[in-house]
Amino acid sequence: MIKLNEIHKVYTQGKVGFHALKDINLFFKKDETIAILGPSGCGKTTLLNILGGLDTPTTGDMVIDSKLTTNFTESEWDYFRNHRIGFVFQQYNLIEHLPIVENVAISVKLSGVSHKDSHKRAIELLTKVGLKDHLQKLPNQLSGGERQRVAIARALINNPDIILADEPTGALDKKTGNEVMDLIKEVGKDKLVIIVTHNKKVANKYATRIIELEDGRVKSDTSPKDEKVKIILKREKNRKKLKFKEAIRLAYYNIKGKKWRTFLVSLGLSVGIVGLILIDALFNSIRTGLEQQTAVIQNNPDIYIMADDESTTIDLALTAIENTNYFKEVFFAPRQDFQIVKNITKDSNLLSNVGTNVIGTPQSTEIKSVFTNILGDGRLPNSDNEFALPLDTAKKLINSNIYLSNDEIWELLKNNIYLIHTDFEYSVAYIPSIETNCIYTSMWDGDTNNLPLEYNETELGTITENLNALSPYRSTPIVVGDKNVFCGDYSEIYWEIDYDTPVGEGTEFKLVGIFDNKLFKEALFSEDTINSIGSKNSYIYPSSEETNPIDEFYRYRAFLKNDNVSNKTDIMRSLEERGYIVRENVDFGLDLFSGITNLFIYILQFIFSSITLIAVVTGSLMLLLILYIGVVERRREIGLIRSMGGSRSDVRLIYTGETTLIGLIAGFLSILISLVLVVILNIYIYNNYQELVLRYLPFVDPKKVLSINYAKLIYAIIGSILLAIVSGLIPSIIAGKKKPIEALRNE
Ligand code: ADP
Ligand code: MG
Repeated sequence: MIKLNEIHKVYTQGKVGFHALKDINLFFKKDETIAILGPSGCGKTTLLNILGGLDTPTTGDMVIDSKLTTNFTESEWDYFRNHRIGFVFQQYNLIEHLPIVENVAISVKLSGVSHKDSHKRAIELLTKVGLKDHLQKLPNQLSGGERQRVAIARALINNPDIILADEPTGALDKKTGNEVMDLIKEVGKDKLVIIVTHNKKVANKYATRIIELEDGRVKSDTSPKDEKVKIILKREKNRKKLKFKEAIRLAYYNIKGKKWRTFLVSLGLSVGIVGLILIDALFNSIRTGLEQQTAVIQNNPDIYIMADDESTTIDLALTAIENTNYFKEVFFAPRQDFQIVKNITKDSNLLSNVGTNVIGTPQSTEIKSVFTNILGDGRLPNSDNEFALPLDTAKKLINSNIYLSNDEIWELLKNNIYLIHTDFEYSVAYIPSIETNCIYTSMWDGDTNNLPLEYNETELGTITENLNALSPYRSTPIVVGDKNVFCGDYSEIYWEIDYDTPVGEGTEFKLVGIFDNKLFKEALFSEDTINSIGSKNSYIYPSSEETNPIDEFYRYRAFLKNDNVSNKTDIMRSLEERGYIVRENVDFGLDLFSGITNLFIYILQFIFSSITLIAVVTGSLMLLLILYIGVVERRREIGLIRSMGGSRSDVRLIYTGETTLIGLIAGFLSILISLVLVVILNIYIYNNYQELVLRYLPFVDPKKVLSINYAKLIYAIIGSILLAIVSGLIPSIIAGKKKPIEALRNE
């Protein structure tokens, strides 16, 4: 059945070789019970390992059932070990974290047998060896004899033809040893049983044939046999693979045996994931709030009702609230929101815009058509006392925060009479830069073509006199006291002039048109007018309070806070039908703000997440380290699985099963921690930073600053499983690479 032909085994350690087996020629028949005797170190275990496919001879051939093993592939060896051989070791070699029923079943599970079937067989065998009542015990809860019986049951489960036992009673007392030997004898009745022992009595009692080894050679053989064997070039079958479900089950037992370590590793892995979940929760709510806000800005649901006196406005607003279900809050705008035109003279900004450059309508038809083209409403001024304004300036005449369309603006302003001052006193409050900009000399005759070569740089001091004649666009000298002053840079002086005092009553002008062009900023007068007023700064006043339509109607308004954008138009229509003057509330400024903020928030989240990723990487490295240490620690287990015919990929699968479980635990752990932290942090933020949140994140619910997107949590689980699997990849490859014999030898 097995033929060994000129087997040599040389162990090489560095440059020195050790010749452990020398020219072994043996033939074993199927139903023999063979004892291999010999002193320690004579090569018994080496021989047994070669027979069991755990090790290969340096030279020589082994033939099993006519098959030459020399060219066996990895997978053929796996099949051979799994189906042909049952191994019993001196040190039992049970997997400590597996219950004994699993220890026995694992061997058949490795060949793809289901959990149920493998258990059925394992229980049968454990019953046979007398351990029926201990199925769920762990190996360390059993006595030595009982453990060896588990090992025997395991060796038998695949119904092998060959049982190899390496000093099976070596660690047992005499009585238990005999019991174990009886059991081996009994179960090995129609099998080839090879027992290594150094106990002659045991050999004599149980063996049908005794082979003695000495110094790596066969010293004696009680019934030497030899047969010529025919070698068939038939391949050994390929073994079926371990099922993933069973790998997970094995992983589960291992993890169960190391609860604390598993928990800590999972915790480490989940720290980073928790960070990512929390960051996502924070930015979720900020972004959602912002999106809501943007929607509101773009389509603000709020409405104004306007009227000409306070009590009417209040009545209207209250009636509106009573009669519609839309409004919850009313605010009354203070009167200054409706700054009327008569106040604008205090707005120097407006003055410079309205009056800086006044130009007349040119006569030429081409130029006229240019102005006609940019005319938004009305017409061009064509007679004395008419003028037109650009839209921006015209808006300032209304000076309201309510959004008004161009047509509405025109309706409010059209044909209004404004007082425009074209003559005014410049009083100079302070001219700080006069020395550098002005040349003054009593010698100078004022002719700009004839500037004096020398002049006095006397301190001029502050000019407080009426500089009525000083015009920014004049190049004639100004008399200050007895000095002629020439100023080169008029703009310096210009900006320092406090030109607050118009001269006389002003002239009434009628607003006849509005330009709608951003580039055109001047007020336009008729050509005749411009000739009479010159190109000076001008003031515009309303001619009288009574004629201002804004003053008439829109003095008061009620601000109605609505919370639904979609019904706004309906509300407005129904209120208008009741005779109210209704306007939308539009705030354009925030629109841009929210766009930029959105971008900013994305960038911020990216930065935060990147930082947190470091924690994720650290967690994975930790897992990698732990698993790597696990590989070293579990060498024997790996070797054992390999000796039972587990393939490299089976070992990898067991590791992957473990990392999958750790990843799953880490995933759930991180979700759990995140949920708890979100609740705690939300309460904390609400209690301590409520005002900050309300001020800076007005669209975020201060009670829920962190809000988890539950759908995304599935990514946390998938992510942590992937992370764990990837981290376990290297250790699992290392584990799979271990040769069975190397792994086993590591006691
Ligand atoms: P036995 O089982 O009869 O006690 P072994 O077969 O285990 O002996 O070992 C035979 C000899 O080979 C011993 O001298 C041992 O030191 C040596 N040996 C066994 N394994 C190795 C190895 N991996 N490397 C080097 N020498 C080894
Ligand atoms: Mg030995």
